[in-house]
Amino acid sequence: MGEYKQMFINGEWENAESGESIQITNPATGETVGTVTFGDGRDANKAIDAAHQAFASWSRLTARERAKYLYSLSELVKNNRDELAGIISAEMGKPLGEAKGEVLGAADNFVWYAEEAKRVNGETIPSSVANKRIMVLRQPVGVVGAITPWNFPVNMVARKIAPALAAGCTVVLKPAESTPLSAIRMFELIEQAGFPKGVVNLVIGNPESIGKEFIDNPKLSKIGFTGSTRVGKLLMEGAAKQVKRVSMELGGHAPFIVFPDADLDAAVKGLFESKFRNSGQMCICTNRLYVHEDVADAFTEKLVERLKRAKVGDGRQKETEIGPLVNERALNKVLEHIEDAKDKGGQVVYGGNRLVEGDYAKGFYCEPTLIAGVTTDMKISFEETFGPVVPLVRFTEEADVVQMANDTRYGLAAYVYTRDNQRCFRMAELLEYGIVGINDGSPTQTQAPFGGFKESGIGREGGRYGMDEYLETKFVSFGL
Ligand code: NAD
Repeated sequence: MGEYKQMFINGEWENAESGESIQITNPATGETVGTVTFGDGRDANKAIDAAHQAFASWSRLTARERAKYLYSLSELVKNNRDELAGIISAEMGKPLGEAKGEVLGAADNFVWYAEEAKRVNGETIPSSVANKRIMVLRQPVGVVGAITPWNFPVNMVARKIAPALAAGCTVVLKPAESTPLSAIRMFELIEQAGFPKGVVNLVIGNPESIGKEFIDNPKLSKIGFTGSTRVGKLLMEGAAKQVKRVSMELGGHAPFIVFPDADLDAAVKGLFESKFRNSGQMCICTNRLYVHEDVADAFTEKLVERLKRAKVGDGRQKETEIGPLVNERALNKVLEHIEDAKDKGGQVVYGGNRLVEGDYAKGFYCEPTLIAGVTTDMKISFEETFGPVVPLVRFTEEADVVQMANDTRYGLAAYVYTRDNQRCFRMAELLEYGIVGINDGSPTQTQAPFGGFKESGIGREGGRYGMDEYLETKFVSFGL
């Protein structure tokens, strides 16, 4: 994995125009795991040209023809599961078991959208005028610029390119600069699957410069972005200049509510999944834990017992449950949130420190941490921590907890644990979130819509909803 890697433009592996490169390091060990060409808007410009040229023929293939490529890619991704998982783990620290699950999720997306391509149905609508007929067509939006983050470096790529390609769009993908190796391996498989040249392109490099080219180049019709709300807003502002289509999967600040009638063991298990998977670096990670006063002590005891058993380590070791943070900056942000909470009166019930003993010293590890006595002025209560820290707040009234849960500019995921059926329905309706997990700490599936309310985004990925994001609706009026 130490070799020099290039980007993929118009069916060729290319060096950046700039001649620059970057080194990719493993956050578990600090070792260099690859060197990658590092480009800018000039490379994006070439890739957009290629995608624009390829659009005419790709969009005119039948859905079944396009599906064949997606089926092949799905098989290739599945067959290379272990290698892809190893690359994910090496470049961003994810435990191997989780990384394998991510790769299978990506393969599933390619199959799902291969099928969904065949169901892009238009319609005819009865006319109110005798000598006119109404037809509605769904057509691909054109060239898509896709920008992905580092936290799911394989599946984020799949979730963008699978529906876009299925719809008949062509794509220029820009992965996060800290995890290009996973994307490069995916593109080697794309090449192997035999996609026509120019249909799927990969540019790696300076995000501002590539983002600007995506915004300014009129040949690019749509920007699909997953990442922070800050960058999402910048891209939306830019896209407004040409009224480009956008889909935005942005940040979150998920509440996790444990009612007194909850199965506490199930709730601890669900919380562990929703908070510590990917070391707390998921947009749908729990950010605020609300536990009813009556069960708060019992729940805390069970949670601390689980945290004590959690295996923190190099993601490539089989027993690891929680890997390192992606880089030093991410670790420092987590530690800063812990310090800020302590300064404002929060009590660290478990953890709270960087791990520095032995092999931990080489990487960016934080102990799984539980903080009680959390108040709304603490950063941890309103900023995304993106790390393995749980802030616990006690509550007594249902109406209060709903108000607290909704009191955020984000609206991606929320979690509720209760055995009261009526409450389940009330919570499903009252929580202002795009995703609500009821007695479920991991609410994601390929066929379900994924996306946020409020500043967590616009549009949905997943299922038939994900396909809509890459289609225009055209009304054709026939005079007879
Ligand atoms: P980020 O916004 O810093 O980066 C995301 C991507 O945007 C990267 O590819 C980066 O290179 C690129 N980028 C950065 N500045 C840019 C610019 N000016 N123009 C164009 N592109 C630019 O976010 P991150 O730290 O990599 O990812 C973590 C964030 O992503 C968190 O906020 C998380 O909640 C969010 N996220 C959301 C979802 C979702 O589906 N809603 C999923 C995963 C992550």
